[in-house]
Amino acid sequence: MLYHSTRNKNEVLSSREAVLQGLARDGGLFVTDDLERAQIDPASLKGSYMDTARRVFSLLLNDYSKEELESAIQAAYGHTFSAPEVTPVTKLGKMHLLELYHGPTSAFKDVALSMLPQLMSKALSGTGKKIMIATATSGDTGKAALAGFKDVPGIGISVFYPEGGVSAIQELQMSTQEGKNVAVCAVKGNFDDAQTAVKKLFSSAALEELARLGVSLSSANSINVGRLVPQIVYYFDAYKQLMEGGVLRAGDPIDFTVPTGNFGDVLAGYCAKRMGLPVRHLVVASNANNVLTDFLTTGVYDRRRDLVKTISPSMDILVSSNLERALYWIDGGNAERTLERMKALQTDGVYRVDAELLAKLQETFLAGFSNDEETRDAIRRAWEDEGRLIDPHTAVAWRAAERHFDPKVPMVVLSTASPYKFCRDVYEAIWGEIPGADAFAYMDALRDNTGVEPPKALAELRTKPVLWDDCTEIAGVPQYVVNAAKRIF
Ligand SMILES: *Cc1c(COP(=O)(O)O)cnc(C)c1O
Repeated sequence: MLYHSTRNKNEVLSSREAVLQGLARDGGLFVTDDLERAQIDPASLKGSYMDTARRVFSLLLNDYSKEELESAIQAAYGHTFSAPEVTPVTKLGKMHLLELYHGPTSAFKDVALSMLPQLMSKALSGTGKKIMIATATSGDTGKAALAGFKDVPGIGISVFYPEGGVSAIQELQMSTQEGKNVAVCAVKGNFDDAQTAVKKLFSSAALEELARLGVSLSSANSINVGRLVPQIVYYFDAYKQLMEGGVLRAGDPIDFTVPTGNFGDVLAGYCAKRMGLPVRHLVVASNANNVLTDFLTTGVYDRRRDLVKTISPSMDILVSSNLERALYWIDGGNAERTLERMKALQTDGVYRVDAELLAKLQETFLAGFSNDEETRDAIRRAWEDEGRLIDPHTAVAWRAAERHFDPKVPMVVLSTASPYKFCRDVYEAIWGEIPGADAFAYMDALRDNTGVEPPKALAELRTKPVLWDDCTEIAGVPQYVVNAAKRIF
């Protein structure tokens, strides 16, 4: 299985190399042209989540040895998830919920970020190399990456989040992070500013300063192949669970709805489809930042609009990086046209696909979006009508799923975060404001009203010491990373 950039096919890498490098030198994303060769027959799905993981990883990361993959899978999923199924499928009314939030930080990012550090450290071992990870986060990636990379040998990590731009619980999750190889810093700016600052690092003087320390720079965000591959596993595993539950038989079609920001999660579903899972539709659910809904209905991707702050902040994004991979594959593996589109997006903020490509996209991808009003309404209905407590991202997805639901085909809604990560917004959507209450008062009230226990790690934040209160101007990001590397290595 070989990987190359979505923007040219000349630089060819093994999966180990692609995992370490993260992003191609031309700014493209790593893809393989051989997904169809990596088939998994749905009738053959059985056993545990880790069994499904073994099959997917050994097909797509086949230059890792069997022993390496086994030890990585054990470390990632052996005892870090609180649900025995790792990602259980449960009921939500007429539909199904794929619960992806039972990992150490209560967001679906854990599924991939428990595995990526393992894959990186195996690829590093014996090379004598050291890596500094720099990551910008809108809330969930940061904590999941800190937890995943904590004390992994040869790797350091620095996380930047927008000051005042994440939920109170999310901020505490990061500012209480322990570990000898971590650094956490707020930045004066929004998420896009933080993200741009981190991307610029890769072509800055800081890169040379790090090189003098023998350290190379990498990223943990969702463009890395080592994050994409672990997410494919739960699509197959959900299908397996529904077969075992008698909901469908091998070969029956299935629909998924995915709350989408950077298009990584839903792209993994598309990969599963190319690998033989009978996926009919993938519904791309967005919040008020509905660039993707527009694109999938008109064929015009236009990011020239203001970013709206919503109650589903992990989807507040206007440039969905992983869409580039879907375009590459669905356009028949055409790197030149992909490069042209991405150039247009960068220089003009907009590109258009022709009617033929749009029709091909629409065969698989449907779309829908909700504003905050509608999201709150969905949270309340899920509780009052179905007895399910869901977070704002899941609520956005559920509403889009309702619009595209076909009673003949099972619909699985991906549930990407614990409602307790957003306890204030979830509580207020159902019962209204509690004047003067802080995040923990909302957490208690939510538990008292629903009987649903908060995840232990979130409840414990109340008494954890704050270890990080660093804050920098955007311009200070490179120096912060260099200083962190000097301290860590
Ligand atoms: C990151 C995130 C998403 C969006 O996933 P993408 O892979 O970026 O599309 C949705 N919900 C939650 C809770 C997230 O943390």
